[in-house]
Amino acid sequence: MTRPSDLSMLARATQTRLVPVRLRQVAGQWLLTNDFGHHVALSGEDLARLMGDKLPAGDPLWQTLNENHFVAATLDRAAVTQQMRERLRFVRSGPNLHIFVVTLRCNHTCVYCHASRAPMDAVDMDMDIATAERCVDTAFESPSPALTIEFQGGEPLANWPVVEHIIEYGLQKNALAGRSLMFSLVSNLSLMDDEKLDYLIDRKVQICTSLDGPAFLHDEVRKWKGGPSHDTTVKWMARINQRFIDQGLDPRQYRVEALPTVTRLSLPHAKEILDHYVDIGCRSIFLRHLDPFGWAATTKERLGYEMADFLTFYKEAYFHVVELNRRGIDFVERTAALFAAKIIGHWEPNFLDLRSPCGAGIGQIAYNHDGRLFTCDEGRMVDRAGDDCFCIGKAGETPLSTAVGGEVVRAMALASVLDSHPDCAMCAYKPYCGVCPVHNYCEQGSLHGRMQDSTWCQKHMGLFDFFFERWLNGDEFEKGLLMRWATPRALDHFVQEKNEGTHRLGERIGE
Ligand code: SF4
Ligand code: SF4
Repeated sequence: MTRPSDLSMLARATQTRLVPVRLRQVAGQWLLTNDFGHHVALSGEDLARLMGDKLPAGDPLWQTLNENHFVAATLDRAAVTQQMRERLRFVRSGPNLHIFVVTLRCNHTCVYCHASRAPMDAVDMDMDIATAERCVDTAFESPSPALTIEFQGGEPLANWPVVEHIIEYGLQKNALAGRSLMFSLVSNLSLMDDEKLDYLIDRKVQICTSLDGPAFLHDEVRKWKGGPSHDTTVKWMARINQRFIDQGLDPRQYRVEALPTVTRLSLPHAKEILDHYVDIGCRSIFLRHLDPFGWAATTKERLGYEMADFLTFYKEAYFHVVELNRRGIDFVERTAALFAAKIIGHWEPNFLDLRSPCGAGIGQIAYNHDGRLFTCDEGRMVDRAGDDCFCIGKAGETPLSTAVGGEVVRAMALASVLDSHPDCAMCAYKPYCGVCPVHNYCEQGSLHGRMQDSTWCQKHMGLFDFFFERWLNGDEFEKGLLMRWATPRALDHFVQEKNEGTHRLGERIGE
């Protein structure tokens, strides 16, 4: 049987014929990948023929290798250069995601984030108007043609006047700047009311919320003294979705995006979580592992789990999603869609935590309520736990170019380039993967970390093995579904018109 150590033989035997390749055994086949993000799966016999240099130029396998840019002599350099340029476009475009933590206050005491929230009477944890304007000014210093301002907290609706002001001020600035500007609100929805919703719908703000599953799961971890958190969230989701429909928007595309946090309590309930999402009208879910940022040790003890348990949960959920689609329910699992875009669609979805280099500073900035800038929201959470090493400046004092050009962001870019990790450089999944310096720092005490012992790598290795196995062995329906998920999806409605700010100038600012 061919072993991974035979990789060097493969390289030697084919060194004048193939571009550099990486190899991994998946689902009884041998997976070859190249730096351009293409792959070919070979049987053991075909791999032996390739290694023995016994493939004539007219062999169908040789043609497949050629079509997927594995053959050095006939490599279409212009085409692969263009593909690489497209995939790496994000490196030079500047930060496009700007996360505004407008308050740390929250009326919920969710078990997994109690360390990072502040009680509702801690009004000194609110962003003020002057700081908010300085943060928006900093965001517009980014050269990125597309800017997304995302409101987070705490609970952002607890500091509603500043949310409104940032939107108006951002629209005003964009009247001159002319960027593709989007606003997004991440809220538990418990402080929503009709007036706020009217405003958010009018200003075309995308709305996202947290929903951990049916009430018995959600209310167990998302504690709220004001009433049943689950029922309130679901009630507002239905009302917001109806408002999108009233506007004539396609309900398959425009809905409140709900995200579950997968805790130990979720693990036995994959199907119930998905069925509940379907029952309340959701058409997608994004299943993610509970990561250790800003965790209190006791929380980890109560809600944490082994990576193997997450992968088991994830696979059960994935098969159920496929089954729902077989029954005619159009439902997307977003982790699978992300991987499908990279593996099958050959395009870069620019998910900031799964790219090389990652988005820290160069793709996103997090703005703390006091105006301090962080490489990402996860870096800000580390500060909340008492370590400010991911702070890169302060709005109004530090130009964005200084913050992004400084040593912290440079160190994180270096630490998240996969070629700088010995294990990743040799890994068949390198063309699609990404590593997280904040995760490494929290788990292993260094930005670089060591992938052999990393739960981050364990998760991604497990997911890539699974998705390739499904792509290679799934039936026609499942492959068709993955191909559909690999197709880009635009949410144009939420992009502000360039003259939007001019119309609204003075409506709210200075009222
Ligand atoms: S450091 Fe981690 S959380 Fe921050 S942008 Fe990079 S991958 Fe994402
Ligand atoms: S993190 Fe793990 S799975 Fe990803 S490229 Fe590195 S070694 Fe491979």
